[in-house]
Amino acid sequence: MNPPVHFSRRQLLAGLGAASLAGGCASPGADAPSTPAATSPSTGPSIGRVVVIGGGYGGATAARYLRLWGGNVDVTLVERNAQFISCPISNLVIGGSKQLAEVTVGYEGLRRVGVKVLQAEVVAVDGAARQVRLADGRVLAYDRLVMSPGVDFLFDAVGGLRAAVDSGRVLHAWKAGPQTLALRRQLEALPDGGVVALSIPKAPYRCPPGPYERACLVADYLKRAKPRAKLLVLDANPEVQSKKALFEAAFAEHYAGVLEYRANAELKELSGQTARLEFEDLKADVLNVVPPQRAGEIAVQAGLVNVNQRWAGVNWLTMESTAVPGIHVLGDALFPGPLMPKSGHMANQHAKVAAAAIVQLLKGEPVNPTPVVMNTCYSFVTPAEVIHVASVHQYDAAERIMKTVPGSGGVSLRASQVEGRYALSWAQNIWADMLAV
Ligand SMILES: Cc1cc2nc3c(=O)[nH]c(=O)nc-3n(C[C@H](O)[C@H](O)[C@H](O)COP(=O)(O)OP(=O)(O)OC[C@H]3O[C@@H](n4cnc5c(N)ncnc54)[C@H](O)[C@@H]3O)c2cc1C
Repeated sequence: MNPPVHFSRRQLLAGLGAASLAGGCASPGADAPSTPAATSPSTGPSIGRVVVIGGGYGGATAARYLRLWGGNVDVTLVERNAQFISCPISNLVIGGSKQLAEVTVGYEGLRRVGVKVLQAEVVAVDGAARQVRLADGRVLAYDRLVMSPGVDFLFDAVGGLRAAVDSGRVLHAWKAGPQTLALRRQLEALPDGGVVALSIPKAPYRCPPGPYERACLVADYLKRAKPRAKLLVLDANPEVQSKKALFEAAFAEHYAGVLEYRANAELKELSGQTARLEFEDLKADVLNVVPPQRAGEIAVQAGLVNVNQRWAGVNWLTMESTAVPGIHVLGDALFPGPLMPKSGHMANQHAKVAAAAIVQLLKGEPVNPTPVVMNTCYSFVTPAEVIHVASVHQYDAAERIMKTVPGSGGVSLRASQVEGRYALSWAQNIWADMLAV
């Protein structure tokens, strides 16, 4: 086996930039930064006002790269939360091997590179007037709007779920933050011999491998701390949705006797601590329900949702909405290309395509006709061992969609601790890339 290779932060930052450039996100002076100090060439009059809604994986990256590549673009990022809290790595907080502070990053880096960061809730978008309204009544005018609001939950698709979540009895923990900590506390309070149920909705949902990673890390905690407890994984899908053979190997190798996986086990209703499936009722002490999802509420309100009543269609050359001109949609909220996951890495890539295109559009210049984006998703199958899946997606001009590049991508041969180190480096480096830290 080859010895692990250690990269410096500088090398890795440059690598992420190179990935985006290999991704064909043609940009003016396309060198990605090697240090945040190399950013914000903002001299001269503004070439336009861009408002970005959502300071997560897509929105923060877009704000940063608009300043980097546009320089004198006036960028305002509106985010309801004071700090960015990452979903990737948050399953380790639930499993008990990381703290929430280790997946939390502030917005100071973006402020330093000239992004105006407003902590506020966007309550309305007027695409015709090119304005957004905030909860406190302020109105922001824009030339181009970037929308990366993530997902919101279809609580009413499961009987009793909304009330159970509102009461705090049932948690989703599918947006990292207070629910992540609350689920951790529920697991700590579980009696030895107790039952945890994890319900997975039908695809598509945010992060295809995420629920199976969570299953592994919850089972790992139970195995160590409550050896008589059980985890039931209730999957509405007919099979594991990502890295199937690798997750099945992990279930068998590490969690036999702790974790029971059931396919085609769609949650229909919740009643007290009972999960009603189609043909049976199951009782659990801890019910972790990942609800069905659609584009974030503000995308629905703005009239962007035009695919399956759930997702926003986009023009892949610019990421501009196919429903409302002037609004660019990124990340989980959009209707993806074939085999394109709803992932943080993918949202970061969408953002670079959008930032490059917006700069060109503001200057009245042509956009890159052949964008390419790529994805890597790491999943922890134990607190130390990791597996990955990777893919590359290229614009097909004839069909006007993103298609996977034949022969690209793939999955790990097996779980390893080396990939565990890569996964943690991936997180540090994508946070540095998007938040300019
Ligand atoms: C447990 C888990 C593990 C995951 N692991 C991985 C992984 O290993 N790798 C990976 O690549 N992806 C992973 N993901 C998926 C990843 O988190 C999402 O795909 C990614 O966050 C999508 O980025 P986004 O910009 O679309 O949304 P988000 O990152 O959710 O950002 C949306 C932001 O918009 C804000 N917002 C929404 N509406 C408004 C409004 N009206 N006003 C103001 N602000 C608003 C929200 O507060 C939020 O900060 C994981 C997800 C989960 C749940």
